[in-house]
Amino acid sequence: MTGGGRGSWSTQQLTELLALVSALPDGADVVQRALEHTVESLEGDVGAVVTDGVVVASLGYAADAVPTAELLAAARGEVTVLDVPGAGTCDVLVVDCDALPEGHIVLGRLDHGGFSSEDRSVFRGFARVLSLTLQARRTLAQEREQRLASEQNALHQQELLASLRERQALLERLARIQRSISTRRPLHEVLDSIVVGAAELIGDGDGVSGLRLIDPDDPNVLVLAASFGLAPETLEQARRSPLSEGIGGEAITTGALAFSHDYVGSIRALPTFVDDGVQASMAAPVFQGDKAVGSLIIASRQAGRVYSESEQEVLLAFAEHTGLALNDARTVAALHEAVSEATRQARQDPLTGLPNRAEFLERLTETRGSGIPLSVLFIDLDDFKLVNDTLGHPVGDALLRVVGERISGCVRGGDVVARLGGDEFAVLLPGTSPDRAELAAERIRQALGMPFHLPGHDVSIGASTGVVLSGSAGEESAEELLRDADVAMYRAKSLGKGRAVVFTASMRVDLQARSRLERDLRRAIDRRELVVHHQPVIDVALGRIVGSEALLRWQHPELGMVPPCEFIPVAEETGMILAIGRQVLLDATKQTAQWNAVPGAQPLSISVNVSARQLSDGTIVADVRDALSRSGLDASLLTLELTETVLVQDIETAAGILRELKAIGVRLAIDDFGTGYSSLSYLARLPVDVLKVDKAFVAGVRRGTSEARLAATVVALANTLGLATVVEGVETVAQLEAMRALGCTCFQGFLWSPAVSPAAFEAMVTATDGEASLLLRKAC
Ligand code: C2E
Ligand code: MG
Ligand code: MG
Repeated sequence: MTGGGRGSWSTQQLTELLALVSALPDGADVVQRALEHTVESLEGDVGAVVTDGVVVASLGYAADAVPTAELLAAARGEVTVLDVPGAGTCDVLVVDCDALPEGHIVLGRLDHGGFSSEDRSVFRGFARVLSLTLQARRTLAQEREQRLASEQNALHQQELLASLRERQALLERLARIQRSISTRRPLHEVLDSIVVGAAELIGDGDGVSGLRLIDPDDPNVLVLAASFGLAPETLEQARRSPLSEGIGGEAITTGALAFSHDYVGSIRALPTFVDDGVQASMAAPVFQGDKAVGSLIIASRQAGRVYSESEQEVLLAFAEHTGLALNDARTVAALHEAVSEATRQARQDPLTGLPNRAEFLERLTETRGSGIPLSVLFIDLDDFKLVNDTLGHPVGDALLRVVGERISGCVRGGDVVARLGGDEFAVLLPGTSPDRAELAAERIRQALGMPFHLPGHDVSIGASTGVVLSGSAGEESAEELLRDADVAMYRAKSLGKGRAVVFTASMRVDLQARSRLERDLRRAIDRRELVVHHQPVIDVALGRIVGSEALLRWQHPELGMVPPCEFIPVAEETGMILAIGRQVLLDATKQTAQWNAVPGAQPLSISVNVSARQLSDGTIVADVRDALSRSGLDASLLTLELTETVLVQDIETAAGILRELKAIGVRLAIDDFGTGYSSLSYLARLPVDVLKVDKAFVAGVRRGTSEARLAATVVALANTLGLATVVEGVETVAQLEAMRALGCTCFQGFLWSPAVSPAAFEAMVTATDGEASLLLRKAC
């Protein structure tokens, strides 16, 4: 017999098996019936189901002549042929049956044609259906038992019923998918029904699912063939990803289920999904025959999401069905089509119609290969986020389109202009001399510096450009060239925006250090290398420590103590700050609640720094509630410190979130006040309680200079608005006196202590006549 028709028939028979076993009455021998169906469908001659060293069902043997020892050996994989008395020898195929302890199904076929990869995957599908059915039945039986045993335990019964309903939903879903396979719905419909089904059953309401398949033209790249629950922008960026990245890639490489229950902290995390708020993810490999050709991925935006065993099993079942759908011979062509459609879409930026990053890199690689010198420009708009945030995304999109047109207008026909994503553009200038590249950069800078007349708005922005020049003998890959241009662009930004900077090799060293930092930081979260230190806040009127500011420290195993100014920006850019910030809130509030629980202790307050990302992400409100309820700390003892730059970025959103935070009862402080762009009108609109006077005002205050006058103005401003002040960075008694003279009473600074470990801080608070308290009294 040939395998030609088997693919389509077997999928249909699989549906039939499902229908058959789910319709069997209670007590019927499901295993025996399933075995019969399986052996028949796969045109086998003998078969058996084995569990825990016992043959529980068999087919093709006389009742008194079941070769138990031989079948058990086959199940263990020790023999690959079976003797059938009077008929000859069979080829053997074995699959695991998860629902039975040490369960296996054994199939024997006399024709000696061996088993095709299709046979194997259909056989696996049968085993999966059998497992699911048995588990569903078991749940049902348990539920009945439970009902008899404890009529009064209504809650538990509800849970059991719910899990039974889940099972039924799963079976129905799978049956629907199988029907769509066997009725030959277009492949994309089948794949869609798989991702939708997976998201519905394990998706948490706002869950995400996706199917990634290896690109037949480039086995190192995964293409997103179907997805559910992704925002269009994320979808755009997620279309292609390297096999070596992502949880999906891991499932394919290992051929097994892969998880990340802390996605943000995972080294496998794809930045696009971190940005999208993904917190946990799970992926199951999709097999075609014995080869993993893709993976089915599910992700959750809920913090602390852990996938249960039954959910793992559901995902495996869906992945199995995906394999079945792909296996169908006639769908192979459609698969190629699906992948090439995804690939075509993957080459063009839908917003501007320009080539996208993948296409740009390809063109760059080609030009590189032809051996001519070339230049690459990396262009990033300055403050584009502000346009998006203040005027809305439609205006932002319109702006990006015009930017694309203007850049294209500055270059020649053979040059390539691409949008890399967000507000980043790139230009490839083949064969240009260094002067010409710089001239082009200048032309573009000028073009983008002119006002943009958009519907309803005139907008002015600028752009920072990185330029990389590569001679004909250049060794760098396209990716490396683009990255170098990116590095130069960053340098341009840090030198003050609106300019072009040419890349030099020394810049690359900085970048390497940064990417190492990023990698290490991801690990640091898991390894708990980030610790909260406390800097005392002293009220000189009361003459004691009234609380502390939580300042994060990273004890890096090789680099030693890394200061926050070096890693917080990286954490913010990558989104890791969300997980880190949550942890700081929890550690700091727990620690403070613990100190306050000591009988007779004066209550200490705690200040925690909050970054822009935490605020714009909107999770801060839930995180604060969570930390307070878990630590038991009184809300009024927690102060959240926000910098002005954070607040002015999107004042309306910020004001809304601040009001929610105030409603919880926490205090709000503006940190580093006076160093940003706050205006009085902003301040008056925000429900803040405290101004933290930055050390910049304190440093020069002694000399009676303009700083002193500024400091006086800041303090007067706080008084007018009815805000308390905390003065930071006090290092000398003279500074202290000058600020006291302005009426300030709360201070932080090295004059008393830097941020120290919780143990050292505790010692400082409790010491009665130790060195610490002496210092405290002297300075007060
Ligand atoms: P910040 O919130 O303004 O913290 C005050 C900084 O001034 C701290 O630096 C502190 O060690 C330092 N400082 C305190 N007293 C003196 C003094 O007398 N003289 C001088 N020269 N400096 C003093 P640190 O710990 O390096 O933190 C730097 C910044 O990193 C913080 O500025 C804050 O913006 C950020 N940061 C620290 N921890 C966290 C955190 O958990 N989350 C977030 N989002 N940001 C954090
Ligand atoms: Mg602070
Ligand atoms: Mg500060």
